[in-house]
Parts: sequence; structure tokens; C-alpha cells
Amino acid sequence: MNYVFPPAPQVVLSVVGSEAAFPVRRVYCVGRNYADHAAEMGADTREPPFFFSKPADALVPGGGDVVYPPMTGKLQHEIELVVALGKGGSDIAPENALACVFGYAVGLDLTRRDLQARAKEKGHPWDMAKGFDQSGPISALRPAAEVGHPVTGAIWLKVNGELQQSGDLSHMSWTVAEVIANLSTYVCLAPGDLIFTGTPAGVSTVVRGDILEGGVDGVGELKITLV
Ligand code: MN
Repeated sequence: MNYVFPPAPQVVLSVVGSEAAFPVRRVYCVGRNYADHAAEMGADTREPPFFFSKPADALVPGGGDVVYPPMTGKLQHEIELVVALGKGGSDIAPENALACVFGYAVGLDLTRRDLQARAKEKGHPWDMAKGFDQSGPISALRPAAEVGHPVTGAIWLKVNGELQQSGDLSHMSWTVAEVIANLSTYVCLAPGDLIFTGTPAGVSTVVRGDILEGGVDGVGELKITLV
């Protein structure tokens, strides 16, 4: 195949304990999936899940230095459990959904909260609030074959060593299986798709120079520095 310019490189995540990398296809995110965060955003809980996307090349595999983005004065962190699919399909039944999961990672859904607030107010899309460059730092994947499917366990984030977000996976409004099943009614899911599953309360505004460290029990940890 001849291209008019070289195609962008495939975005990949490393897999703990494996030489083989995980090729990323699409990146979906769930809005407001923990009751305490929905409440701090002024929303009702247990509404049906809703989704938005980030471009795959917005991921920052392994974390590290992340450039503070332009066009915001209110950059906020959302620590999240990320599901990585090894199989896909449409209209997946909840009882079959976990069989589609390859593994899990820890992700940060970085958000330009001021742009998001303006978008909400005007009924505009969230893309520029959520899908900007380097908006998705993410850890290496842990295969479900090794760690199982975590349904309880701490999910936490520290800024400069101080605890800001502290929740538990058991507080998700919609379980991983329910999220996969619901999303698959809207789009045909495929191997390589990632789903950021929402964040607990405690989101806060960060600035250049801040060090963010987060984790999910049994899955891993992630650290970034805003530069
Ligand atoms: Mn989020």
C-alpha cells in the first residue's frame, strides 16, 4: 500500500507479564458512574449510563510527563478503572459481557472542566473538554486471566502526596458488565476498544508542576507530572 504520507503509528498498551502489546482501537468513557461524583457534579444518580469518546492517540501509555493543555484554567483529574476488550460485538448480554474483557488498567480522564461547563450550558459537545491531546494517561494492562474481574477495591488519587479522590469499585452505579452491555447497544464493540468506567468524588483542579499518583487495588498504579 502506498500512502500520501506515513500513517500514524498504532497506539499500544503494554501488558504486564507479556512481550505482546495491546493494540488500541477506540476509547470510550462513561459519564458519572459513581453516585458521589454525580452528586458533586449536581446530577441525579442511576440514570442510564451515557458515553463520550477520546481519540486513541490522546492516550499517554505509562504516564510520565503530561503537557498542561492550552485553552483551560481549570484542568481536573478523574481517576478511573479502564476496561480493555479482547472481544466485541453488538447487543452483548450482561451475562456474556465479562467474557469480552481482556484486562484492566488505571486511567486518568483529564478534563478541561471550564470548557465542559460551558459546553453543558450551551448544549455543545464535550469533545474539546475531554478529548484533547494527552487527555488519557493510562497504566499497563493486567490481564483478567491473572487478576480476575475486580468488583470491589480501593480507587484513589493523590495530588502532590495528598489524597484527593478515594472511592471503591463497588460504588459504581453501573457495573463493568452493564456498561459493556449498554454501550454495545449503541455501537459494535471490537477487540482493542477501551472503556474508562467513571470516577469517584474528589475531582480537583491541578496546575503545572503537580504530581498526580493514582491506583486501583489489584490492577495497578499510574503517575504523571504536569509540565
Ligand atoms: Mn470520567
